[in-house]
Amino acid sequence: MSNRQFDPSLIAVRQCGPKVLVMDKVTGRSVYVPGSKKRHLSLLHESGSGLTPEAKAARDLVIRELSDSGLGILSQPRFQTLNTLILKLTASCNYSCSYCYDFTGSNEQRYMDTHVALDALRQSLEICDGHLQVIFHGGEPFLAFELIRRIVSYGKEMASAAGKKIMFNGQTNLSLLTDDSVSFSEDNNIFWGFSLDGDALLNDASRKTKNGAGTHKRFLDAVRKFPRFVKQCGVKATITSVNHGSLLEMSHYFRSLGVKGWDWSLFQDAGRGKCKPFNYDAGILCASWNDLFDKVLEG
Ligand code: SF4
Repeated sequence: MSNRQFDPSLIAVRQCGPKVLVMDKVTGRSVYVPGSKKRHLSLLHESGSGLTPEAKAARDLVIRELSDSGLGILSQPRFQTLNTLILKLTASCNYSCSYCYDFTGSNEQRYMDTHVALDALRQSLEICDGHLQVIFHGGEPFLAFELIRRIVSYGKEMASAAGKKIMFNGQTNLSLLTDDSVSFSEDNNIFWGFSLDGDALLNDASRKTKNGAGTHKRFLDAVRKFPRFVKQCGVKATITSVNHGSLLEMSHYFRSLGVKGWDWSLFQDAGRGKCKPFNYDAGILCASWNDLFDKVLEG
């Protein structure tokens, strides 16, 4: 059992069919417990003094089980030193997704200044503790491919001189890949994730080109031209009102693509998405997650 203090205010409880989902509000870590334990969970907020010996024992057992699963205990800060540098290389993108949080309405092409990028990299390498992860972000980072080339070559040189390790990764929509950028990424072990919200129907509802066409076809073009590269990537989906109930279908689809892994982020009410109805429904999302989770448990 963890010897750190258990804090019941960190715990959220939600009934999901016959089971109860218990979640840590800070870390997002979660476990399912049988519905029969819901009564014991309700004792978490009780002080031991007002409980019968049986109720106190049941409450202590639940606390021990949750603590052992890493829930309800304030963790120590995981990292004491800088280990990650996120470089937002550009605020521009060749796509125009309906929910894009990065949309400003300006047509101005905005890129990070090369000196700023290299300076940030130098300073980060100076203060990091032996290992630095650099993340290329946008907009669409491949619009700034020459800047990526400079950063990677400078970063590797600096890291090697300082005896430190450096890794590069980034997030892309895959639409601007060239033979050159793909082989550069492979040669330099840059790990890319790509954005896709599911199959053509789910994806194209929100992820669009500037003339309003769906972008799934462009994704398939990338798969056709650079199959090995795409399979080495992870996929990241944005969860919106369009796909919140389709996690299982999405997982099947992503699995059929043979990509390395699947992650998602929740829609943010910002930028272009601010005035449109993209907000996911937490109840539908939980039901969809349960569906997916049950299938995973079934194997
Ligand atoms: S791919 Fe879509 S969501 Fe990503 S930056 Fe471009 S417009 Fe925004």
